[in-house]
Amino acid sequence: MAAQAVDVCVVGSGASGSIVAHEIARNGFRVHVLEAGRTLPPGATLATVQSDVGNALVRSSIGTLTPFGRPWSVSALGGGLTLYAGIAFRYRSADFDARAHVAADALDPAWPIDYAELRPYYDELELRVGVARLAGADPLEPPSDPAVLPPHDYSTQGRLIAGTAERLAMQPFPTPLAINSAPYAGRPACERCGPCNEHLCTTGARADARSPFTDITIPSNVLTVSEGSKAARIELGAVSRADSVEWLDTVTGQRGSVGARCIVLAGNAVQSAALLLRSVHRAAPNGIGNSSDMVGRGISFKISGYVSGHITADRLEAPPSGGPFSTVALSDHYFDSEAPSGLGGMIYEASPAERTICDGNISVRLHFLAADQPMHDNAIQLSNSWDRLGLPKIVLQYWTHPLDKRRLGYLSRRASELLAQAGVKKIEYQDSNYQFGSGHLHGGCRAGNDPTQSVVDRWGRVHDIDNLYVADGGFFPYAGGVNPTFTIQANALRIARRIVTQLA
Ligand SMILES: Cc1cc2nc3c(=O)[nH]c(=O)nc-3n(C[C@H](O)[C@H](O)[C@H](O)COP(=O)(O)OP(=O)(O)OC[C@H]3O[C@@H](n4cnc5c(N)ncnc54)[C@H](O)[C@@H]3O)c2cc1C
Repeated sequence: MAAQAVDVCVVGSGASGSIVAHEIARNGFRVHVLEAGRTLPPGATLATVQSDVGNALVRSSIGTLTPFGRPWSVSALGGGLTLYAGIAFRYRSADFDARAHVAADALDPAWPIDYAELRPYYDELELRVGVARLAGADPLEPPSDPAVLPPHDYSTQGRLIAGTAERLAMQPFPTPLAINSAPYAGRPACERCGPCNEHLCTTGARADARSPFTDITIPSNVLTVSEGSKAARIELGAVSRADSVEWLDTVTGQRGSVGARCIVLAGNAVQSAALLLRSVHRAAPNGIGNSSDMVGRGISFKISGYVSGHITADRLEAPPSGGPFSTVALSDHYFDSEAPSGLGGMIYEASPAERTICDGNISVRLHFLAADQPMHDNAIQLSNSWDRLGLPKIVLQYWTHPLDKRRLGYLSRRASELLAQAGVKKIEYQDSNYQFGSGHLHGGCRAGNDPTQSVVDRWGRVHDIDNLYVADGGFFPYAGGVNPTFTIQANALRIARRIVTQLA
């Protein structure tokens, strides 16, 4: 099929792609979004959608490659935001420069931008979508405009966790959530109707990435979205200019092509790196943007795990209900001289989807999570075997650094102690299996000022290509110790604004 020319082709419609596409289209430039997934049907859950998408290959304990890797958050119109938990932290200063906290063999974790540069974009997005939070309650919260929505009430288990933490002289606070606690931005307040994380929001109270595509102020001939269209490779027009994106219909395998003045990759950290690696040309024999062999490197999934146990229901103030996955969080162990390298991470409530009382008991669960160090050998690679569309399968090469293993152990102990102090019994550690890929995907197209150590510059532009950008979590040179999506979105808005000035 012949290339159709637009101003900008965006690959991916998730957290970052939706923001980039909307921002550029509302400035009057013609945008074509290629989305490999489709609109999720009502009732879709992570369990139902995961079976439909290709897994990546990971190393088993005996060294063989097995198809257990998770190279997607969610592949669908709206990407990971369709099923996410709505947790909307801003990164802290240390997340932008963690050099004091990583091992000597890590890649440089310093971002080429700092919080002050990103702050106006966080503030603007918060105003647009609404984040329910209690300003000033998180001791590590960076400066911001006033909160636009009050925080959600703690859940029944959240109250138990918060009360216990306060007794231990900690500072629990309401988890900041992009879920309406009151009607806002044309969306209703959350009704706490059911499990939230890994499920579609049935009321629209949770922010999602699909609404930019239904903005009636943008003419349909300005913003086009093609679902079921997987970008297979990027074509070059000249040595330093991308020309078009070749895509495949995910059902028929039929090929198409979109010509564009500018191309923005927003497919997630793993998929964007894989697309660059697939785009082999005479001028780019190892893939586009890969002259320094950095594409795919420094991939990070965040180290994380859960501890859970149960408590007799009569010890809780009220019966458990549905509603947000997490209502209470603790950053007391973010910086701690007892944590290996002085940097711990977050601990927060992680309610299981099943919240009924069973044999008089109710389960209480905590999630702990921290940034993993960016490592040169933690990398996205392409295999010699092919998927059903004829594209090389993705390999996730990932090992947890010994320092990160110790940090994970530290957080697990702190979370278990908190549960024990709350009277929770039979506390067990649960793997998140982050090492096979997770919902939190960062790195692979690392941003930096040094082209030998990074793939894109501070604006997300691929170093040696004038009109090719990466706007998703692939940009992150360091994963940061909190959930990444609000930062992915703020950074995508910053990159989109830059592209608009370049196109004008
Ligand atoms: C169950 C779950 C809960 C989560 N909860 C939270 C949370 O509470 N807070 C938080 O901060 N984060 C959360 N996350 C993570 C969050 O979803 C991701 O950080 C975020 O969606 C990443 O944004 P992105 O733009 O990089 O990619 P995505 O949102 O994953 O979007 C990428 C899109 O690009 C498409 N795509 C990829 N490759 C191609 C290609 N070659 N051609 C065409 N299309 C392509 C994909 O199909 C996908 O739709 C959660 C994730 C999951 C799975």
